[in-house]
This record gives sequence, C-alpha cells and structure tokens, in this order.
Amino acid sequence: MKRIGVLTSGGDCSGMNACLRAVVRTALFRKKEVIGIIRGYEGLINGEFKPLGSRDVSGIVNLGGTILKTARSKRFLTKEGRRRAYKALKENNIEGLIVIGGDGSFRGADVFGKEFKFPVIGIPATIDNDIVGTDLTLGADTAVNVALDCIDKIRDTATSLERIFVIEVMGRDCGYIALETALAGGCEEVVIPEKSYDIDKMCDRIVEGNLRGKISWIIVVAEGAGKAEDIARKINKKTSLEVRITVLGHIQRGGRPTLKDRILGAKFGNFAVELLLQGKRGVCVGIQSEKLVTTSFKSAIDNKKWLDTGSYFRLIKILT
Ligand code: ADP
Repeated sequence: MKRIGVLTSGGDCSGMNACLRAVVRTALFRKKEVIGIIRGYEGLINGEFKPLGSRDVSGIVNLGGTILKTARSKRFLTKEGRRRAYKALKENNIEGLIVIGGDGSFRGADVFGKEFKFPVIGIPATIDNDIVGTDLTLGADTAVNVALDCIDKIRDTATSLERIFVIEVMGRDCGYIALETALAGGCEEVVIPEKSYDIDKMCDRIVEGNLRGKISWIIVVAEGAGKAEDIARKINKKTSLEVRITVLGHIQRGGRPTLKDRILGAKFGNFAVELLLQGKRGVCVGIQSEKLVTTSFKSAIDNKKWLDTGSYFRLIKILT
C-alpha cells in the first residue's frame, strides 16, 4: 500500500485534528502518501482530494473541529453514490481509507468496504461516547469538560440568586454527557433518554429542599429526554418556583481538545495507519483498559454501548 486516504465524517468533535495529524505523520514516517478527503463521504464522491504533507498538519493539534471539514452525505447512502466514491479512490490510486467519525460513518464504511472489497479502518469520534468497542471515543472528553465549565458558571449565578436552573446538554439517544456533567458538576437532578423520570417526585424533592433552606437547584437534561423549556414549565406549574433554563447547544462540539483527546487522537491515528499497513480491514480502533484494540464494524454498529446509569444516579443521590 503506497497511498492512503483519510476523511472526517458526520458530527464533528474536538480531537479530530490531533488524530488527523497522527494519521498523516505516521503514514509519512512509514514512507506512505496521504490524501486528505474534504467534506467526508460527500467530498469522496466529488473527488475533493488534497495531498497532505507534514506541514499541512502543523499547528492543528490544539484546534477543535476538523480542518478536513465534515459533512453528511445522502448520496453515500445509495449504491450509485458509493460506486462513484470507489471510482474516485481508484482514479487517485488510493489503496486504503481511514474514516474518522461516529456510528453512522461506520455504517457507511462497513457497507462500502464490503461492497468494493476496499480496506477501511474506522476511528471512533463522537461527543456521546456511544460506540461499542472502546472505553472512550475521540471528542467525548472535551465535550464533557466544555459542558462542565458552562454548568460551573451557571452554578455561580444559581447559588447567588438562589434559583432553579434546567440545563439542556447534548445527547439525542444517550445520557453520557448529562450523567458525567451532572455528577462532576454536583447537580441535583439528571434526566436522560435511557430512563423515565417522575416529574412529581422531582418537584417534591425540590419543595422539600426548599423547606430545608436549599433554594438553588440544577437539573441537567439530555436533549433526547425532553426539552429544558418543557421541564422548567412543569416544575414552575407544580411548585410555583421560578425556574431558568439554559440550552448549551453546539458550544459542546467546539473548544480546544483536552489533553485526553489529543493523546487519544495520537494513539488512534497511529494505530489505524499501522493496521492498514498490516493488511487489516473492516475494523474500528478503540481503547480498553489502556490497551489499543480493534472491533469489527459490524459489532460496533449492531450493538448498543452499555452505560452504567445506575451508578451515576446512586452517586448523585448520595452526594448532593
Ligand atoms: P456520525 O458518523 O456522526 O454518526 P451520521 O449518522 O450523520 O454521523 O453519518 C455520517 C454519514 O455516514 C451519513 O451522512 C452517510 O453519508 C453515511 N452513512 C450513514 N449510514 C449509512 C449507511 N447505512 N449506509 C451508507 N452510508 C451511511
């Protein structure tokens, strides 16, 4: 294998650049050429290719987002779109592909790799940390730290003004960010998609707390479990207490990658290139108990990652 392609796909996250840098520099160290594919699968279909040298990835280890840009591609969902992508790779003598993205991107990588017998290695990158086969995905650590920083700031004002706040964090199907930040931020309540919640009981706890003199209260809600606005309205209706809301939104996707994400990016990028050169294909990389491992795309996308929600709820209850 002389030339490899690399792309970032789907939702962006911090650490993608650090990972790209590791892919490029490992490949160059191995005397291979690297082609950066702009805008994920969409750019692959369009042939948006850019040769990457060592200097092209200078000064990006500390940058959020992805210099390759990322995109969603409807055309890649079709066989015709994928056929065009394959043609573009062939025409540019690209013999292996590294896909940095989430489970959607892995679905695409799996179908594509099997359809055209093309070597593809995946690098799990998503703020939700919801990919099977790795303890941690790229970007998750930065996202929880960014969200935690916001929650800390809101706590300052919540405590001073003795207010109840509902803070909505990202997580359409997964409560990872909500659970991590609620526990680390010393928040009183957390609402996640994996578990139903009882608004009446929550209001009882708030009123009881109020009677004990505990007036400020922070409720973290994952977007997939409900809207901050709706929860705030219900609390206000039942308790007559004033409730404020903050929706953190896309702020959680950006920011300087944390040390952990930069290290993970370096390890994953390096490992993915080595695997490609060893002739591995159809797997994504991961880290388990500090060891680099591989998981088949099929296993990564067919299974739901287990999250120990019970432990978080238990600790939040004891510690707040
Ligand atoms: P993420 O990788 O962050 O989960 P998406 O779910 O949006 O992001 O997926 C990124 C892209 O992967 C999609 O826009 C599409 O081009 C491709 N993709 C997702 N699922 C499939 C599939 N079943 N077959 C082919 N391509 C897919």
